[in-house]
Amino acid sequence: MQTINTSKAIPIETSGRHLHLSTVDRETLFGADHALTPIKDLSQPGQFACAETVTLVGPKGEIKEVRVLGPERGRTQVEIAKTDQFKLGLTVPVRPSGQIEGSPGITLQGPKGSVELKEGVIMAARHIHMTPEDAKAFGVQDRWVVRVKIDGDRELIYGDVLVRVSPKYALAMHVDTDESNAANLDRQTQGYLDSVQNTTGEI
Ligand SMILES: [Zn+2]
Repeated sequence: MQTINTSKAIPIETSGRHLHLSTVDRETLFGADHALTPIKDLSQPGQFACAETVTLVGPKGEIKEVRVLGPERGRTQVEIAKTDQFKLGLTVPVRPSGQIEGSPGITLQGPKGSVELKEGVIMAARHIHMTPEDAKAFGVQDRWVVRVKIDGDRELIYGDVLVRVSPKYALAMHVDTDESNAANLDRQTQGYLDSVQNTTGEI
């Protein structure tokens, strides 16, 4: 067993359903000359919530006002919780951000047009962003998979938590709304490393 620091607190942040857009899809949905409008900085440096939203249209239903996060990316990616999948009529895999190969597609509707995504809808694998200094302090490395314990009145240990290390990150663990509700999280909730699940990056 690796020696890890189980007493250093990790802020837990809940990510609502959202999407990242490629430039070409942003142009189709909002217009070629319409730049994304940042309205709120997120915890990760350079990442921001936008004023723009789209409607997700699935085989069984739709979800309106799904937030666009910036900046633009190479490929469009939609991140939804399990509850959303029942409403849309989709079954989507748990994936680390960016690994969308073979995931389901969906229709995006914006004010200027719609996009038929061939793939790109995922449940984001829960993960911790940290700097190299944080990683050293915790005793973990990039792409290790760990368990994180949450105290409180719905005490829970999240397994399959991917560690992501970059000098561009700030310390925060990200979970989706279903995961957050399962542990009755609030904005003050912090987590603590419980154990190392594997060092191979397999979730
Ligand atoms: Zn994240």
